[in-house]
Parts: sequence; structure tokens; C-alpha cells
Amino acid sequence: DAGIVIVGCGHAGLSTAETLRRRGYRGRVRLIGDEAGLPYQRPPLSKQFLKGEWDQSRLIQRNAEFYVKHDIELIPGQMATSLDVGGRSLALESGERLTWDNLVLATGAKLKRLQVSGADAAGVYYLRTLAQAKALRAALSGATQIVVIGGGFIGLEAAAAFVDAGKSVCILNGADSLLPRAASGPVARHMAGLHLGRGAQVENAIELAGFDTQGGRVSGVTLRDGRSFPADIVLVGIGVEPDTELAQTAGLKCKDGILIDEQCRTSAPDILAAGDCARFRHPLYHRLVRLESIQNAIEQGKHAAGTLLGDTDPYRAVPWFWSDQYDTKLQIAGLADGHDLEVIRGDEQGERFSVFCYARRRLLAVESINAPADHMIARRLIQSGISPTADDAANPDFNLRDLL
Ligand code: FAD
Repeated sequence: DAGIVIVGCGHAGLSTAETLRRRGYRGRVRLIGDEAGLPYQRPPLSKQFLKGEWDQSRLIQRNAEFYVKHDIELIPGQMATSLDVGGRSLALESGERLTWDNLVLATGAKLKRLQVSGADAAGVYYLRTLAQAKALRAALSGATQIVVIGGGFIGLEAAAAFVDAGKSVCILNGADSLLPRAASGPVARHMAGLHLGRGAQVENAIELAGFDTQGGRVSGVTLRDGRSFPADIVLVGIGVEPDTELAQTAGLKCKDGILIDEQCRTSAPDILAAGDCARFRHPLYHRLVRLESIQNAIEQGKHAAGTLLGDTDPYRAVPWFWSDQYDTKLQIAGLADGHDLEVIRGDEQGERFSVFCYARRRLLAVESINAPADHMIARRLIQSGISPTADDAANPDFNLRDLL
């Protein structure tokens, strides 16, 4: 029995393995990942772990006994190096070759790296893995001035942790506003105000010239316009790209992600994919999307397991996401891309409001600042295809629940 082999021990891979067992699959399940140790949660790396509130043991998703008890063969610290689709086998860097009846690719995403002078200097950090988070956390005590490059979620969450730790922080953002790919204008402005209010410096629309170094260590960041920002540490958070290497070299169809159908099947028979690495047509949005979120990794992993067990229903979960910065919780339900109308519910100048994003009167997404009840209702509205009128959305006395 060759069973099911899963590549990637992130949230999607683990969710697939767990679901197979929970639903009674009795064949062999092998879970392979190139990172060492037990599978862990990524979101706290830029939040509780970076702030020193959680130690490493709290990040672990399941203890070692769990894998034994559920007969999930965990193979950590092993890179899968090549895939033979016709021969149904997978080569590991150890030289071992695994055969499979079904393969699930949950290879996630990998960091985009800066290619400027000094980018390899000591003191320049990235944040995707536990190993990187540990290195960054260890370096913090010796740092007073930190430059964060990138105004996306990772950069902003880390910046908040640095400010909370008493560091002087400057956020250098290439786009014209923070969270350019992810949030509407009102939310981006609110988050910028939050960081500025806590004393961080925020510079938008910057163009990087390079890193200044002294004796191989970073000492600052210089921009094309000549401005220079001193730094003991630089954190680069400029996004990720899907890890499609294995799929691509094996000839699977990829286009900014491994292309999958509504049942998580790739272009190769008996190979599925899920999570950050996968691109699929979302039935609620009628276009190809690739999502970078815990919700999608977990639910798509479950869905892939369901397909392997004979389910035929399409994957149509509402995308949702959250980010914690200082004591503010941002929650996003749905995908706002292409919206033509923003309706504010609550007080945009205050601590708590939501932005309802519409396209041609259809509700696409709701972004909530410290308004978890709005977020929960928004998920249900979008899943059900119900769009409140702009007047009802803007009226805090109107109970949106009544529409469900
Ligand atoms: P990954 O978690 O990337 O896991 C894939 C794994 O596969 C990796 O360990 C990779 O090394 C391994 N792999 C790849 N290729 C191979 C190979 N050939 N052989 C063996 N192993 C391989 N999302 C949210 O929704 N909310 C948040 O607040 C949030 N915060 C985040 C904070 C940080 C610091 C980071 C980095 C991410 C955050 N995310 C958040 C995003 C979220 O963590 C990802 O969307 C999620 O982890 C994706 O899961 P995945 O299993 O698809 O991929």
C-alpha cells in the first residue's frame, strides 16, 4: 500500500493528513517537509512569538504522540527534490524514493528576496519560518533602530512588535499606501495612523538604492533620492511567491501557482494541491485566485482530503484573514479586488468600524477594525450571496443578521 504522500508540513499539509484520518482513511499517510521539527503555526511568528509572549512550544500544532496515535508518518527535515508523475514516485534529498497512489502538494510559498547591494549583510532578516523568527527575536535585544522594508501584513505586524519592545522603527514602503494589495483606502489610512500614533516613522513610495554596511553588518538603508535611514537591524517583508518548483519540473500546469480545479486536482491524474501554492477559480468571485491565508490552507487541505475520499462538491469557502497590530484587530472577509464602492459602518475616525466593499451593488468583501461581530456576519452574507443595501450597511442600527 503506497497510500497518500503529502509534500509540505504547513497548515495545508497537516490539515490534509488530519482530515484523512478523522474521516477514517485506513491507508498509509506520509507527510514530508523540509523544515526540521514538528509542524508549527506561522501566524504567531510575527505576533506573540516575536513579542516574546509565547515560547516555541506553544507554536507546535500537534505533539509527537499525535502522529504516532493517528499513524501519520511524519518525515521532517527532508526536501522532496523531484517528482515522477508517470512512475508515481517522489525522490527525497536523502536519496530515498517514495511511491504513492495519490500525492498532495502543499508546498506553500517562498520569500521574495531583495536584490540590492548589501542585501546579504549580517543584520538583514526575513520572516517566514520558525528558524528565521528565532534568529530575528534573538537579535532584537541588541538593536535600538530597526528599518522594516515593506508595508504588507508581515512588515506591519513585526513593526508593531518592535515598537512595543521600545525600538525606534521606520517602515519603508514601496507602494503609495500601506497594505496596497490587501486593504481598502480607509483601512490602509487607519493602519498608517495607528503606526504613526505609536511613534513609528512611515515612508511610502520609496525606491531602495541599497543597504549601507560596516564590516559586513548592515548599518542603514539608502534610498534612490539620497535619503538614508540608520539601522541595527533590517527586516525585509516584500511578499512571497508560490513554491511551484516540484510541480513545474514535473510538468504540472502552473501559472503563478499550481493550477487546480474545484476539487483541488492538478493537471496530473492522482496529484492534488492545496494552500498558498495553489491557484484556482473561486466560484464566488468567478476568477482565478491564489490565497495566502490560514483559512484557505486549512479548508483547502480538508477539501483535498475529501476529494481523495470520494467527495465531489466544489471548494467554495469564503476567504477570510486577520492581522493583529498593537491592540488592533483587522479582519477581512471576502476579496475586495475590483470594488467600485466603499461603505463605512461605524466611525472611520474612531477605534472601531467596518468597510463594506461592493462591485455593481454586490458585496465582495468587508474589512473590519475591532469589529468582530461585523466580520462574522460578513462571512455569512458573502457565503450566501446576500448584499445589504449601502444604506443598511452604513446604518449601525440596522441589524445585518436579519438579512440571513
Ligand atoms: P506553508 O505554511 O508555506 O507550508 C509549506 C511547507 O512546505 C513549508 O514548510 C515549506 O518549507 C515546505 N516545502 C516546500 N517545498 C518542499 C519540498 N519540495 N519538499 C519538502 N518540503 C517542502 N495568515 C493568516 O490567515 N493570518 C495571519 O495572521 C497570518 N500571519 C502570518 C505571519 C507570518 C510571519 C507568516 C510567514 C505568514 C502568516 N500568514 C497568516 C500566512 C499563513 O501562514 C500562510 O498562508 C499559511 O502558512 C500557508 O500554509 P501552507 O501549508 O499552504 O504553506
